[in-house]
Amino acid sequence: MKPSVHIVWFKRDLRVHDHAPLCVAASRGAVLPLYVIEPDYWALADTSARQWQFVRQSLHELNTALVRLGQGLIKMQGTVIEVLATLQQHYTIAGLYSHQESGNQWTFARDQQVGQWCQQHAVVWQEYQPYGAVRRLRDREGWAGQWERFMRQERVLAPTRLAQLKILPPQQRLPDQLGSVLEANESGLLQSGGRRAALSLLGSFLRERGRSYSYGMSSPLSAAQSCSRLSPHLAYGTVSVREVTQKLRNMLEYAELDKPWKRSLRSFDARLHWHCHFIQKLETDIRFEREPMIPALQGLREARFNQAHFEAWQSGTTGFPFIDACMRSLRQTGWLNFRMRAMLVAFAAYQLWLHWQKPAWHLAQCFTDYEPGIHYCQIQMQSGTSGINALRMYNPVKQSQDQDAQGIFIRRWLPELARVPTEFIHEPWGMPWSLQQEVGCIIGTHYPTPIVDHMQAVRYARAQFSELRKHHPDFRAQAQALNEKHGSRKRRTRRRPVASTSNTQQMELF
Ligand SMILES: Cc1cc2nc3c(=O)[nH]c(=O)nc-3n(C[C@H](O)[C@H](O)[C@H](O)COP(=O)(O)OP(=O)(O)OC[C@H]3O[C@@H](n4cnc5c(N)ncnc54)[C@H](O)[C@@H]3O)c2cc1C
Repeated sequence: MKPSVHIVWFKRDLRVHDHAPLCVAASRGAVLPLYVIEPDYWALADTSARQWQFVRQSLHELNTALVRLGQGLIKMQGTVIEVLATLQQHYTIAGLYSHQESGNQWTFARDQQVGQWCQQHAVVWQEYQPYGAVRRLRDREGWAGQWERFMRQERVLAPTRLAQLKILPPQQRLPDQLGSVLEANESGLLQSGGRRAALSLLGSFLRERGRSYSYGMSSPLSAAQSCSRLSPHLAYGTVSVREVTQKLRNMLEYAELDKPWKRSLRSFDARLHWHCHFIQKLETDIRFEREPMIPALQGLREARFNQAHFEAWQSGTTGFPFIDACMRSLRQTGWLNFRMRAMLVAFAAYQLWLHWQKPAWHLAQCFTDYEPGIHYCQIQMQSGTSGINALRMYNPVKQSQDQDAQGIFIRRWLPELARVPTEFIHEPWGMPWSLQQEVGCIIGTHYPTPIVDHMQAVRYARAQFSELRKHHPDFRAQAQALNEKHGSRKRRTRRRPVASTSNTQQMELF
């Protein structure tokens, strides 16, 4: 007779702590902890080698934790259905347990197929809520309260012991490399995976770094230190959002903190809420990965895609130093602060008038912390296709002057501008010819001339949006409907309702 096992399928939840599926499965009998290496997933346009590297490191630590409990991680390669079919040859599958995954369209379709397979083979698949996003939610009425209740629930303790399996299925080594490599040489600046790194970041953030969070988060010079840097860990679940929220709140309640520090930590608390708020949008409407949130905006930019502009943006060679420094730093480190991510997208969307899909894929590949729900919804918001937010057009020169006044960040990432005086670092195209020669940076040779007139480009973008908002018969109704379904109820009471987005005054220039 085949032995009976409860399969725990690890996805974006690479931990044993606060892991309800593992805990429930362990209480019912023998557990087979499973990770499926899915080559088709790692070939997608929004996945990359740096994400795999982070996952791989996290899997090693997860395996160590599971071995300590009694049964290590079983790693198998193929589609999940192939893997389940193989496992069925060795075991009676008493149940499949996992967290719900609010991923991209590919993982959504895969989960539907797994659901069908389970039905056909009479396997009960129990899925558990991983954080504040709720499955089959109709609108946001009461959502904030639900989020709060979930975060206050006691964390699920790790099981104390897992029985060792007597028979093991054929296993696969974790490949060294999967997914697209962005740089020929990985820089060594990427974040490390695993729970140990997550707890170390959380500890240093709550004890020291978080003090400067509010005022340090906007500039790329300070943000890498002042922000928590927990994003890839939350994306791959080496630590749960609930654990971070509870530890943060303990700190707020019991530690002696001055006012600015408390303000910073409260602001961080709000970000944890946003994490789930954005994922909820894609969980509810998976079409946001491919289609504009406002259908009336379909076709707005598609016809005018300038491949050369896209490539310049992608490689950090637009001729705008701050834009290029942000992109090149991101390519090397896998991380960028929120404001600079928003600026890169806005520059692609407004100044370069690029449809958002290809930029979204490129950035997803660059981000170690790629989280589809946050990513696609932020991309749409920063490109102006979410309809329920003001259009944020960033002036790349002003951002540069505000966030990197001395050009320190620019010079760090654009060595060709290393000797350009601060007076010209934000607009090197203004350097007199003699100075270009003197500092060894000829514009157009050593560093590109700007690929667009950014002020003129923004005027064009603004006019296009104004026209569409004024004249498209469905824009207002669609924006209203979107807000009813996805808008944050908290914000709506404080700010003006969505119909005002048709007012061009809502367009902002930062
Ligand atoms: C175009 C664009 C794409 C983005 N793509 C991603 C992505 O793929 N994955 C991702 O985790 N974040 C994404 N963000 C949100 C944000 O920039 C990052 O979460 C943040 O910079 C990560 O650094 P941190 O962990 O130090 O953040 P902290 O400021 O320390 O925040 C703590 C956590 O809160 C959440 N969070 C913070 N800011 C936001 C936000 N604006 N919206 C939603 N959640 C937030 C994240 O989980 C983050 O780890 C994107 C933002 C933009 C503008």
